[in-house]
Amino acid sequence: MALLETTETERLKTIATTFSGLLLRPGDDGYEDARRIHNGLIDKRPALIARCRGTADIAEALRFARESGLEVSVRGGGHNVAGRAVTDGGVMIDLSLMRGIYVDPVARTARAQGGVTWREFNRETAVHGLATTGGQISTTGIAGLTLGGGIGWLAGTYGLAVDNLISVELVTADGEVVIASEANHPDLFWALRGGGGNFGIAASFEYRLHPLHEVTGGLVAYPFPAARDVLRFFRTFVESAPDDLGVVAALVHAPDGSGAKLAALVVCHAGSPDHAKTDLKPLLEFGSPALSEVGPMPYPVINTILDSGYPKGALNYWKSTFLRSFDDGAIDAMIDRFAVSPSPMSAIVVEYFHGATTRVGVSDTAVPHRLPGYNLLITGVWTGPGATEDNIAWTRATFATLQPYAAAGRWLNYLERDDGQDAVRAAYGPNYARLAEVKRKYDPDNVFRLNVNIEPAHT
Ligand SMILES: Cc1cc2nc3c(=O)[nH]c(=O)nc-3n(C[C@H](O)[C@H](O)[C@H](O)COP(=O)(O)OP(=O)(O)OC[C@H]3O[C@@H](n4cnc5c(N)ncnc54)[C@H](O)[C@@H]3O)c2cc1C
Repeated sequence: MALLETTETERLKTIATTFSGLLLRPGDDGYEDARRIHNGLIDKRPALIARCRGTADIAEALRFARESGLEVSVRGGGHNVAGRAVTDGGVMIDLSLMRGIYVDPVARTARAQGGVTWREFNRETAVHGLATTGGQISTTGIAGLTLGGGIGWLAGTYGLAVDNLISVELVTADGEVVIASEANHPDLFWALRGGGGNFGIAASFEYRLHPLHEVTGGLVAYPFPAARDVLRFFRTFVESAPDDLGVVAALVHAPDGSGAKLAALVVCHAGSPDHAKTDLKPLLEFGSPALSEVGPMPYPVINTILDSGYPKGALNYWKSTFLRSFDDGAIDAMIDRFAVSPSPMSAIVVEYFHGATTRVGVSDTAVPHRLPGYNLLITGVWTGPGATEDNIAWTRATFATLQPYAAAGRWLNYLERDDGQDAVRAAYGPNYARLAEVKRKYDPDNVFRLNVNIEPAHT
């Protein structure tokens, strides 16, 4: 069991007199719950969990960790499948009590603290008829998702989450609190927009919002034998899709637990109902779906329709890569691999990058993936620990089978624990060298290394 040394215990007593949040050690009430994250496969035991209530708590917990020589991890929403939010034997700086959100409806901006999830964020902005690009699942944290780029339903219209970021309140490695924006620490602000958690702890984020009341969205699912036609249709459909239309294709299992395999298209149209009707017509007239539920709904609702497929505590192992080609060979390989999926919770997902996301320059932010194209995500999800070996093996084999179609790029926030340096480089692409310079300036000792890590540039 990870325990603190006597000197650290004394030091902890000192910070406990001012700390507003909770300081949890192994054996304390709430410790077991607090160390658990979305992915039930992650089983790490921090020596201390510092559940912060504000920026001062973050700075204090960080100072404690550094003075004690302990590894630091940072937990936002705790959704990272690779388990980067938790440390074994170090200090987990946990922002999950920091859930404040303030919307300025006149300026159309929102400032939200680092422990907020997209469900909470969308709910508050929707009160004012406003929204911005966030994740497709409502339980994901805004912090990790945004720092890693942030693809979501509105990305075709408004770009990635980082493209809507105005400023970040950040606690740097030396405990300083800075507001990074275009005007203030512009090098740092550039790096925060896609550089992951490498540069400090984001206490809060300020986003640009856009008027949005309702979207037209939902799901159309077809029996598995139609999968080939469905994925081919998806390919034609997205390549002429307007910015307002976000589409994800997925080979999935029926949510009723029957294990029935389906080929599904999930859509979200952020334009007017008239435009949505015209743009969605080809989809609504295509094939013989087993289920077709597409209609107007508040934006926060589309953000929840896939949630049940990703329950907290289920075991997860994911692999992902951008695709060089989504030709018939790739489609057939996906279908063949999905047919032998060992878990009724796993899926093979294809996202399409287009519109506003792809009109930002490769080096305008730290996110280099700005070409229109397909991103493959194999989500191995299961429950019984006895099935772990089979499911990891299936995910890896599926990823290997699809390598002939893979492009060089990888989406940072989908990287797994065992993805090595090549994958890290592929995630940052041509921006790596500049990121390493910013890392040297703001975190030369690599205090923040439980992330898709950027080594500080050498002097
Ligand atoms: C079910 C599911 C759905 C997903 N859907 C999407 C999607 O639609 N679009 C998308 O782009 N991604 C998606 N992702 C991936 C997601 O973006 C990443 O898992 C992301 O890391 C989650 O952020 P978090 O704050 O919840 O994670 P955490 O696990 O808390 O943190 C992830 C990383 O970010 C760092 N970090 C977290 N908070 C802070 C902070 N405040 N300051 C500095 N560093 C911090 C952590 O140290 C860690 O390295 C999804 C993941 C899951 C499991």
